[in-house]
Amino acid sequence: MSDSSDWLERSRRAVWHPCTQMKRHERLPLVPIARGDGAWLYDFDGNRYLDAVSSWWVNLFGHGHPAIKDAIKKQLDTLEHVMLAGFTHAPAVELSERLAELSGLGHAFYGSDGASATEIALKMSFHYWKNLGQANKCRFVSLENGYHGETVGALSVTDVPLFSATYAELTHKGLRVPTPDARLALPGESAAMVAARAASALENVLAKRHGEIAALILEPLVQGAAGMAMYHPDYLKRARAACDRYGVHLIADEIAVGFGRTGTLFACEQAGIHPDFLCLSKGITGGFLPLSCVLTTDSVYDAFYDDDVTRGFLHSHSYTGNPLACSAALAVLDLFEQEDVIAANRDKAERFTKLMAPLAEHEAVRHFRHTGMIWAFDVETSRADFSQAFFSAMLEKSCLTRPIGKSVYFMPPYVVDDEQMAHLVDATLETLSSLRLAGDDHPAEAALP
Ligand SMILES: *Cc1c(COP(=O)(O)O)cnc(C)c1O
Repeated sequence: MSDSSDWLERSRRAVWHPCTQMKRHERLPLVPIARGDGAWLYDFDGNRYLDAVSSWWVNLFGHGHPAIKDAIKKQLDTLEHVMLAGFTHAPAVELSERLAELSGLGHAFYGSDGASATEIALKMSFHYWKNLGQANKCRFVSLENGYHGETVGALSVTDVPLFSATYAELTHKGLRVPTPDARLALPGESAAMVAARAASALENVLAKRHGEIAALILEPLVQGAAGMAMYHPDYLKRARAACDRYGVHLIADEIAVGFGRTGTLFACEQAGIHPDFLCLSKGITGGFLPLSCVLTTDSVYDAFYDDDVTRGFLHSHSYTGNPLACSAALAVLDLFEQEDVIAANRDKAERFTKLMAPLAEHEAVRHFRHTGMIWAFDVETSRADFSQAFFSAMLEKSCLTRPIGKSVYFMPPYVVDDEQMAHLVDATLETLSSLRLAGDDHPAEAALP
């Protein structure tokens, strides 16, 4: 056991933490985590925190899940890694076959992080059209408030100014279309009507400019970094139809929403559509190891299949298809099968939503919303530092939450139980009543996902 204050100081000096203005840690201490178990994270002093954000949306079955751990250990005894160019191994083959079976998309290309999956999908789409003699199709359409990662290509299709504005000179200029976010409903309008309005705007852009557009990229059903903006599946149906009509690829970024988050294994299923590219990461290894994957169709694959080397997809990452990560992903798929996770989550989600009724009715709560194993609401407050204040108050009540601006969300690991969720709801209600929601005499803090 080490003294936690020692780790804090050493971390502040040596680690440049992600998505952080490091100076804020002069006032706000880092939280040192010693170990994890199920839905709980433990610090060095034995305090525990309910991981209500699944450690940035990656953890599906809780920390230290024995089946995933065992699969990685077993793989470790035979092969830790081999390059996937010119070589192959059982975990990558099996995972590709099983993902093809589940998604209906027969070819799997691997990367390491979500952002690299976005890059792969964008490059593949552009290169597909180029191989077909249509190199002028080089623009991407993305949604307002969309998020697809933070490498330069991914930032170009990301609409979160806090992350992208600074780098505007580096990113390429795409086309942005209105979000179908159901919160934008005008009086008397339903979520389906907002979706229809946004879909018409998309159709107009595609009709006019499809000659220069390679693909539309979107987060199906829930725009995560936008503050868990949820929308009607009709939008996806119309988007699919418009892409087909105008010869534009549809890239479904299910990095956050894939693997059961929205109530189906993949969110696209709820609209009955198949994308041309499906980007997966985050939950794919249950939150154990970095891995991402882009699944695509035979027709995309065939456009690269040629005697000419440069018509092939000459893209790689050193750890492409890492066997340890693939074996973790196979264990995750086994859990989905063996424990009928989707059906179990459906029952859980129904009970949890009932537990949250007092929150949905709270006077400071706006737009309470729910999709699958994600719940979110906006808080009516004039405090510029709301997200920071809420985070700190919840941490004192043993809950790890990370509001995005004034949107509070819960995205717990699927192993969370009724008692833990009741605790989360109680802590949230207490925090909403103890936090001063009026007044803005605090310095503005950036709202980070
Ligand atoms: C997290 C996320 C990404 C980026 O994944 P990283 O692993 O953080 O690079 C891309 N798209 C969506 C929808 C995400 O939620």
